[in-house]
Amino acid sequence: MTLTTRFAPSPTGYLHVGGARTALYSWLHAKKNGGEFILRIEDTDLERSTQASVDAIMDGMNWLQLDWDKGPYFQTKRFDRYKEVIDQLLAEGNAYRCYCTPEEVDEMRAQAREKGEKERYNGMWRDRTDYPEDKPYVIRFKNPLDGDVVINDLVKGEITISNKELDDLIIARSDGSPTYNLTVVVDDWDMGVTCVIRGDDHVNNTPRQINIFNALGAPLPEFAHIPMILGDDGKRLSKRHGAVGVMQYRDDGYLPEALLNYLVRLGWSHGDQELFTRDEMIELFDLNDCNRAPSGFNTEKLIWVNQHYMKTLAPEYVAEHLAWHMQDQNIDTSNGPALSEIVKVQAERVKTLKEMAEISRYFYQDFTEFDATAAKKHLRPVAQQPLEVVKAKLAALTDWQPEHIHAAINETAAELELGMGKVGMPLRVAATGAGNSPSLDVTLALLDQDKVLARIDMALAVIAERIANS
Ligand code: GLU
Repeated sequence: MTLTTRFAPSPTGYLHVGGARTALYSWLHAKKNGGEFILRIEDTDLERSTQASVDAIMDGMNWLQLDWDKGPYFQTKRFDRYKEVIDQLLAEGNAYRCYCTPEEVDEMRAQAREKGEKERYNGMWRDRTDYPEDKPYVIRFKNPLDGDVVINDLVKGEITISNKELDDLIIARSDGSPTYNLTVVVDDWDMGVTCVIRGDDHVNNTPRQINIFNALGAPLPEFAHIPMILGDDGKRLSKRHGAVGVMQYRDDGYLPEALLNYLVRLGWSHGDQELFTRDEMIELFDLNDCNRAPSGFNTEKLIWVNQHYMKTLAPEYVAEHLAWHMQDQNIDTSNGPALSEIVKVQAERVKTLKEMAEISRYFYQDFTEFDATAAKKHLRPVAQQPLEVVKAKLAALTDWQPEHIHAAINETAAELELGMGKVGMPLRVAATGAGNSPSLDVTLALLDQDKVLARIDMALAVIAERIANS
């Protein structure tokens, strides 16, 4: 039997960090074991499910390059099959019609509360056959009355639940629509899922699902429940903590490799190794090494991982992701240096690709003004002569390469008996519009020669005006 895992999101929002981690672990477990990974969209909640959310989930999976071998399956396309299984459970005496009114159910709950017992359905229609005509009913699963359900959870270890704790859950609502615990079992069975990996918010559903599997005579999958992710404040990670949708991390300038690497470590470890390539993750991932305790989200660490990948992945690859941000910031990069060159010179200097795009605008766009602070400090009358001299030397270059540019700056400083900074800083502000850039020779080399000369003229004009006004 092929080891088969699945990711089964409900399309009621974007793909959030917790979901992405569940998807990643399921994907890794399948890949590592030469198995298959299924994507299943659990869209039976018609009111809350949206196509936009389905798209957002798929976008997130695609961006993270978590490819699925089968699917996407949609539960809304499988209602006939669920009905068939519900009918089978009814026919075999493993389910029954319950005609309780909502008031009766409320009453049962109230009584249980009074007695200090767990609120549960008391089974009043479990053995009745005196069905009223034309009254609405739900269908309930006949949960075993005695014995225990034992889950050998691959992450949490053995969990035992007494059947006395479980009531007869509704598997079909009064409109006939199936409920989550039923659809998930039918799907995991039909789709040959051998290992169910999901968040531990579902751990209470698992014994119920195991009982349904058993009633159907279906083989039981293994289960692995992954502890939740907490925000910086120790509370369950949610929108309140800012970016929790995967695509928001793309928008904020993270590489998919960084988020994946960060997510894999959020709840799993291999010694004290922090950085894993995709292949290493596949090779080393083991559900047994997942933490049993919740993990805390740590943005600083994510930034560190992102910086690592911006610096170490092939610049041509990083450039593909940078291109998205350039476009997002309306920077037309069709004229100017190759984006991979930008990655090479800027990766050390930024935390995110978004920032990289922001500080690289001058490579592609002219500006009409200099940064006020930088201009005030560096485009002063004393900078006029060095800028004129260096401009003449730069204009004379026939081979626009860093080493020649470097020599031109050096010679200017030597001739005028000035420190390098007295030439370099005005030149930097002139060429880039502000006081920060990668090393000047490389920066100028990436800029077109004519462009640099024109920008120096613009800076000289600012200085001239300052002299005139003084
Ligand atoms: N659709 C469920 C959810 O999004 C997951 C169900 C499961 O993994 O079994 O929470």
